[in-house]
Amino acid sequence: LAEKGIKPSYTRIRIYETLKRFYGQHPSADDIYHALIPELPTLSKTTVYNTLKLFEKAGLARVLNDENEARFDINASDHGHFKCHSCGMIFDFSIEAEKIEYSGLANFIITEKSVYFKGICSECRENKNFNNVEGGSDL
Ligand SMILES: [Zn+2]
Ligand SMILES: [Zn+2]
Repeated sequence: LAEKGIKPSYTRIRIYETLKRFYGQHPSADDIYHALIPELPTLSKTTVYNTLKLFEKAGLARVLNDENEARFDINASDHGHFKCHSCGMIFDFSIEAEKIEYSGLANFIITEKSVYFKGICSECRENKNFNNVEGGSDL
């Protein structure tokens, strides 16, 4: 954290470690709060949220908006997300961000590229019958 110019207080370190523990799961600030409250009973949700936003600004984490709740992601590299309509899990998948073709953004500064797919994950597909939504998703 210190490397990124963040004063490493105990609380910040614990929030960072918890975010790491949730790697690949895209926790909300609430999830982090509930995971830490047994050991840090004085922690507030605002502190957790502000700390996570601080990590985002420092490039330590990414934020993705899942409907109205921000989800945090310790994986700050370019990668795609797949949200399952059935279990609500958000999965990471690899993309080659440089190869995404787009137009209409001449003179824009792009700071981040994200790809967001939605559908049914393989596990839910195996467990239930989701034939009605098959057909794949396009960009
Ligand atoms: Zn699923
Ligand atoms: Zn992710």
